[in-house]
Amino acid sequence: MTLEEYFQTQVRKLASSSRKDQDHLLIELCCEGLNLSWSDFQLTKSKRALSAPEIKGLNDWIEQWLSGKPLAYITGFKEFFGHRFICDSRALIPRHETEILVERALSYLPENGSQKVIDIGTGTGCIGLSLSKKRPDSSVLLIDASAEALELAKENAACLRLKNVSTIHGTVDRQFEMPISGWEKETIDLIVANPPYIASDDSRVEESVRAFEPNLALFAEDDGFACLKSWAHWAYRYLKPGGCYIFEFGQGQEDDLARFLGELPFSSTEILQDYSQISRFFVLTK
Ligand code: GLN
Repeated sequence: MTLEEYFQTQVRKLASSSRKDQDHLLIELCCEGLNLSWSDFQLTKSKRALSAPEIKGLNDWIEQWLSGKPLAYITGFKEFFGHRFICDSRALIPRHETEILVERALSYLPENGSQKVIDIGTGTGCIGLSLSKKRPDSSVLLIDASAEALELAKENAACLRLKNVSTIHGTVDRQFEMPISGWEKETIDLIVANPPYIASDDSRVEESVRAFEPNLALFAEDDGFACLKSWAHWAYRYLKPGGCYIFEFGQGQEDDLARFLGELPFSSTEILQDYSQISRFFVLTK
């Protein structure tokens, strides 16, 4: 059977499934499984014969995918800011809109500067490691409350051959404290975060997200605001004067957050939008 014949058979099956109109993801899955680029897939599909083990492997992946499992957890990878990040259920799957945060964060880090950067709630490490890759002279600290997420971030740091990265397992407590040994208060140039910000009863969360991605990375108490608030307090204490805290938040949280952040003594506040023109990031300068 050729790849094209196999693909068409699967497309027909999708038509009557919850993955209707997701042919592009099916192509991505086949490409990843057969180690083909998108253009290789298009150019060779009519001639490329599939072996029995290849068909078995793809069938197995498609079955998992039809059960609702996100593609990145099946293939084990997600591309983010031009790099492949190892992905599994230990951490949230990197989202493309978070690249906007990375892009803005880079503008605060001079090319050959030795800045101190913290990525709190790092998950796969996608934000902090993307910064570290672009700014090899900076020191990047990755923090997470989940020890297993931190292991995954370390695996990603090793795959990307990054040496300027350290990790700490910890959480911000009720007094907004989290000691980080070797990193003094008022000395950090840049703090970045994509905190858990969803209220646990939010019905807009997709079924497959709720079922497969780690709850700790998604949901927060206080209607989703617990980490957004406590991390902002904590970040203020650790930033040097003039330092910046950039973080992501959820759709519709902007006004409540602006009110709360107005009580903290940051000197300037800016909101950035995502690709759908939804307010999605705060940029706070101390
Ligand atoms: N910082 C990671 C990301 O943006 C994890 C975010 C999280 O777990 N809430 O993908």
